[in-house]
Amino acid sequence: MRWKDMRESANVEDRRGQGGGGRGGFRLGIGGIIAVVVISLLLGKNPLEMLGLVSQFTGGGQVNQQQAAPAANDEGKQFAARVLGDTEDTWTKLLADNGMAYKAPQLVLFNNPTHSGCGQAVSAIGPFYCPADSTVYLDLGFFRELNQRFGAKGEFAQAYVIAHEVGHHVQNLMGISDKVHRLQKGKGEAAANALSVKLELQADCLAGVWGHYAQSRGLLEAGDLQDALTAAQAIGDDTLQRNAGRNVTPDSFTHGSSAERMQWLQRGFDSGQMQDCNTFGGKG
Ligand SMILES: [Zn+2]
Repeated sequence: MRWKDMRESANVEDRRGQGGGGRGGFRLGIGGIIAVVVISLLLGKNPLEMLGLVSQFTGGGQVNQQQAAPAANDEGKQFAARVLGDTEDTWTKLLADNGMAYKAPQLVLFNNPTHSGCGQAVSAIGPFYCPADSTVYLDLGFFRELNQRFGAKGEFAQAYVIAHEVGHHVQNLMGISDKVHRLQKGKGEAAANALSVKLELQADCLAGVWGHYAQSRGLLEAGDLQDALTAAQAIGDDTLQRNAGRNVTPDSFTHGSSAERMQWLQRGFDSGQMQDCNTFGGKG
């Protein structure tokens, strides 16, 4: 994948190495401890009890797991910024063709718990898009996991992950996510999950649509699409459940089976038309 030929986005915020704007990353320095003790004494409370309370709220037990900041503007950041920049160019054009303006999302890189508009972002959740602040949250360590744990290697597999989250942003701009969340209310778990699967498969398809244009501009190389399909296969719900030693229960799927995820990614990639990503329209 010729990602170095892609335009670098200015919408990346690098929070790696930061303790985080969220509560989990908050650390009480010695000054803070003295302040708590003074306040406790003023209020007539036991200082140790109050310190315990404070550390409960601030995840005090995680203090030693602080991840360091990598070199500024390292290759990982450049990769994410260039893939994001390329999605901006493609979606600006595609939405303009449909008479809509594209307002690009932000992308936050983090490696310690950090604040998001959807609550605390932690690495274990994996990459996600938060509609409340139109931001993609990404710990680049996920790409290592994708490679080592899920056996999905290659830059285009990583780009697919970013493009999938950007796909959720497009759904948000078009009001699709809101509609689905409204439909999910009051539904049983299986029906709500089925709607979630349609939303996720559509994001896969939209990632494929972006890939179509990256391909047509000569930015992909032989084997790239296969790498992304391997990733889609690896993170299908049935495969994840099977690999976790659990029974495969389709009612509990939230992202779709491996076969479906590959199929919709491929479909978007082949067509390049967002109209072909109607996962909600019955058969298709
Ligand atoms: Zn998703």
